Amino acid sequence: MHLEDEIKRRRTFGIISHPDAGKTTLTEKLLLFGGAIQEAGAVKSNKIKKGATSDFMEIERQRGISVATSVLAFNYQNKKINILDTPGHKDFAEDTFRTLTAVDSVIVVIDVAKGVEEQTEKLVQVCRMRNIPMIVFINKLDREGKDAFDLLDEVEQKLNLRVTPLSFPIGMGYDFKGIYNVWEKNINLFSGDSKKNIEETIAFDDVNNPELEKIIGEKPAKDLRENLELVYEVYPDFNRDEYLKGDLQPVFFGSALNNFGVRELLDCFVDIAPTPLAKKAEERLVDPNEKEFSGFVFKIHANMDPKHRDRLAFIKIVSGTFERNTPYLHVRNNKKLKFSSPNAFFAEKKEIVDISYAGDIVGLHDTGNFKIGDTLTQGEILNFKGVPSFSPEHFRYINNADPMKAKQLDKGVNQLMDEGVAQLFTLEINNRKVIGTVGALQYEVIQYRLEHEYGAKCTYENLPVHKACWVEPADPKSEEFKEFKRVKQKFLAKDKQGQLVFLADSSFSIQMTQQKYPNVKLHFVSEYK
Ligand code: GDP
Repeated sequence: MHLEDEIKRRRTFGIISHPDAGKTTLTEKLLLFGGAIQEAGAVKSNKIKKGATSDFMEIERQRGISVATSVLAFNYQNKKINILDTPGHKDFAEDTFRTLTAVDSVIVVIDVAKGVEEQTEKLVQVCRMRNIPMIVFINKLDREGKDAFDLLDEVEQKLNLRVTPLSFPIGMGYDFKGIYNVWEKNINLFSGDSKKNIEETIAFDDVNNPELEKIIGEKPAKDLRENLELVYEVYPDFNRDEYLKGDLQPVFFGSALNNFGVRELLDCFVDIAPTPLAKKAEERLVDPNEKEFSGFVFKIHANMDPKHRDRLAFIKIVSGTFERNTPYLHVRNNKKLKFSSPNAFFAEKKEIVDISYAGDIVGLHDTGNFKIGDTLTQGEILNFKGVPSFSPEHFRYINNADPMKAKQLDKGVNQLMDEGVAQLFTLEINNRKVIGTVGALQYEVIQYRLEHEYGAKCTYENLPVHKACWVEPADPKSEEFKEFKRVKQKFLAKDKQGQLVFLADSSFSIQMTQQKYPNVKLHFVSEYK
């Protein structure tokens, strides 16, 4: 097959949701359709279970599962589908944000009873910032939940989306009878009492078919026709261009557990979801169909076995093909590297492959060369944009607890930060190191890993910081900026890239600072240009 055809076949996306909405279950059902797994239960949830905070090995074990589920690939209707795993647990939100830089679209799963939850809001906000095409799947229709129209309103308001339903439920909970497929204009009904088997559906191609009454009853048939009228009246027609631009989000309803509404979702997804997209590098826009390979690291996973401290770096291929044993340029280090055993992913297995295409993910064994955001190319100097850091929520000083092991501690901290476990800030005034994390869990993971992988011990000290703000002066030589630096001296630090950061102790102080120094911009994301 030609390069362009191979690339056109690829659909690389992520499923995002608040924990428990049904992401794992839906993933599993998608894999079943692809014939990639034979039975339910094969996909492991990478959820950090409640109470895991007290047991480091348990955290690591559970986190480790996500190595296996980092990428799940399968073929469906001659499309190569790559699902990138996104941890739902809020303490690992950074991981998810970064993974979103490697997807070409997302599916958002929402629980019909709970509606839009906190984590969904945050993740969708990040997708909106980057105009990622989104499809919404409202799950658990086999249970009593909110009214479909109310939910559509909620999604529009809370997530700030413009939606249009492409499927519509017939009943809900105990009375859930099936799905009207707005996209294909037909109906799939459960037959009999069984809500278990996808084979047992009855297809209708006309909602006005009088047979409908006989099968679902008079009232449900009337309700459906009325609901559909409202759907056509109130919601915009589906338009693929608008969807691809992130301006319109189709909505599907179903029950992942019972495999209902999932085929509708998948069939539409393979039709409309974007093929690998062009990506901006600082130097230029890179098209997936370019012959020369380029890609970037969006995730690094540490080996859990302390005896093998190698890591797996996940590369999203942006253009061309990645080939085994071929030297590629590591742009930041200006070094050629070649890889004898690149891993590709298929269902829940990884295997060594000779060639992968734009849109695919490869896992490369790494002994410490890579950090998140690094670019690999065939020789051209390219630096891909868009692996931003967000302001952490927690901040602590990190202190060395074993003076004999200062070097080990430095090395360990540096490598863990390269992996993206947390963010490191160095205070300008005294060079003390501050670690910022999204969740308190990471401090324990870091302490544990420093000790077990690097033989270093650390302690923490709380730091009352509200938010890290990346500082952008309109004119670095201005008197205003000089004064800002002098007055805020105690609160200034450098991040790992050497960018200036203001560690504000309250939202009030951010407000005041912005008023007092209007030409010094404060950003909550590291990449603001
Ligand atoms: P995740 O945290 O988003 O990955 O959620 P899971 O897929 O692990 O699902 C959370 C719980 O919801 C599990 O107990 C599932 O069995 C259940 N669940 C998932 N989908 C459905 C559904 O369609 N209907 C019902 N009743 N339960 C579901």
